[in-house]
Amino acid sequence: MVDDLNTQVNNDKPSPAVDSRDVRMVLVNPSHPGNVGGAARAMKTMAITQLVLVAPKDYPDPRAAWRAAGARDVLEAATVVETLDVAIGDCDLIIGTSARERRIPWPLVDARECADRVYSEPAQSKIAILFGREDSGLNNEELQRCHLHVHVPTSDAYSSLNLAMAVQILSYELRMRSLQSGAATPVSEDPWDEPFASAEDVERFHSHLAQTLADIEFFDPDKPKQLLTRLRRLFARVRLDQMEL
Ligand code: SAH
Repeated sequence: MVDDLNTQVNNDKPSPAVDSRDVRMVLVNPSHPGNVGGAARAMKTMAITQLVLVAPKDYPDPRAAWRAAGARDVLEAATVVETLDVAIGDCDLIIGTSARERRIPWPLVDARECADRVYSEPAQSKIAILFGREDSGLNNEELQRCHLHVHVPTSDAYSSLNLAMAVQILSYELRMRSLQSGAATPVSEDPWDEPFASAEDVERFHSHLAQTLADIEFFDPDKPKQLLTRLRRLFARVRLDQMEL
C-alpha cells in the first residue's frame, strides 16, 4: 500500500534543480472540497506537487476542481487514503501544523523555521507536513505522531487560518527556501550515519513499548496520566535512526 502511495505521489515532481525535497502535504479529514482544491492551487504555485488526502469528506467533488483552477493536475494526482498511518508510514520526518498551543508543549517552529528545517534534511528524507480538520484541527494523537509542530504566529484575537491558506503559507516558505542559492544541495553538514526510522516502524516500537510497560506494571493503562505522551515526545526529540530502533 505504501509502495503504491509512493508511486502515485512521486509523479510529476518539480525540477530537482529547484526543489529536491520530497515534501508530502497531508490533509487530514478535510471537510470542504473547496479547501482541497485551494490547497492544490496553493501547492502548485509554489512548485509542490505531492498531495495526500486522509479520508476526505465529500470527495471527489466539482467544487474541488473549481477551486484548484490551473492546478487540477495536482488534484487529480492526489492520493486518497483511509488512515494517517498509510499516508505517512514511509516518512521519517513528520511535521504537524497547529492553530494553537496544546497542553503538552512540543518542539515548535514558525513556517520559515520549518522550511529551514526541511532544507537541512538529508536529500533522501521523506517528509510529511500534516494539516488538520477545518473545525477542530489535528487531534492530540495526530500531533503526538509529529517530530515538530508549526504555528504561524497569527493574532491572539483569531489564530485560525483557513486550511488552504495555511497550506499556502507553508508552501510559500518552502518555495522561498528552495530559491535560495544552494538550496538544491543538502545543507546538512554533519549527516547522520544511519537513515532515520520510518513512521510505521516507530509506531510499532511505541505499541511494543506501551504493552511492555503495562506488562511489567510500570504504569496502569487505566490511569496512564501523561506517561506515554511524554515518552512519545522524548523519542520524537531524539528521532531514532533505523539501527537504534
Ligand atoms: N479550530 C481549529 C483550527 C483548524 S484550521 C483548531 O483550533 O485547531 C485548519 C488547519 O489549518 C489546522 O489544523 C492547521 O493545519 C492549519 N492552520 C490554521 N491556522 C494555523 C496557524 N496559525 N498555524 C499553523 N497552521 C494553521
